Amino acid sequence: MRLKGIKINGFKSFADKISLSFSNGITAIVGPNGSGKSNISDAVRWVLGEQSAKMLRGAKMEDVIFSGTQKRNPMGFAEVTLILDNSDRTFHIEFDEVEVTRKVFLSGESQYMINKSACRLKDIHEIFMDTGLGRDGYSMVGQGKIEEILSSKSDDRRQIFEEAAGISKYRYRKEEAQRKLVRTNENLDRVYDIIAELE
Ligand code: ATP
Repeated sequence: MRLKGIKINGFKSFADKISLSFSNGITAIVGPNGSGKSNISDAVRWVLGEQSAKMLRGAKMEDVIFSGTQKRNPMGFAEVTLILDNSDRTFHIEFDEVEVTRKVFLSGESQYMINKSACRLKDIHEIFMDTGLGRDGYSMVGQGKIEEILSSKSDDRRQIFEEAAGISKYRYRKEEAQRKLVRTNENLDRVYDIIAELE
């Protein structure tokens, strides 16, 4: 699996539609201060499912939408697509190329797509889970992440090893099943209450 390219439209400083291709090997992005280098990594992080505006250096999620300049009007939405090579079937999808898209409107409404088909944020989290790529993956190493790895809190370090070992998907499913169990027990209590009232 490899990141082959990214298409950005209306995200942060990118008012114009841009398309970047990443060939094999190492790609370095260079440019003057404030030219938008970090905005590209923010765009990648955003599509991978980042839900924290703070992690994207904003106050609220809509801050990722191009806010305009003296010469250009603000945009009404931001859209970013990651193009991933899937010839090794890292993602359990029968396509050699996987396109993952995230779009947000000024109203706050969000849209997610996998290979141009609408999906939920949950589906995006699930396809990236255990690939090391997801929101909590170790493929994006920001400043905070290094602190997390060096942290004395064993829980923080454990999360990184669990993602690498490919077991975070099962932890997530277990937690989801436990939440359902709690809800089911609450519903059961309600049913017992009603039965008791009727008797
Ligand atoms: P440095 O080398 O200093 O780290 P950089 O190349 O990484 O800089 P970025 O931090 O990616 O630069 O980009 C900062 C620029 O992006 C700023 O000029 C900021 O005004 C602009 N920017 C951020 N969010 C938006 C937005 N929503 N709309 C328009 N411009 C934005």
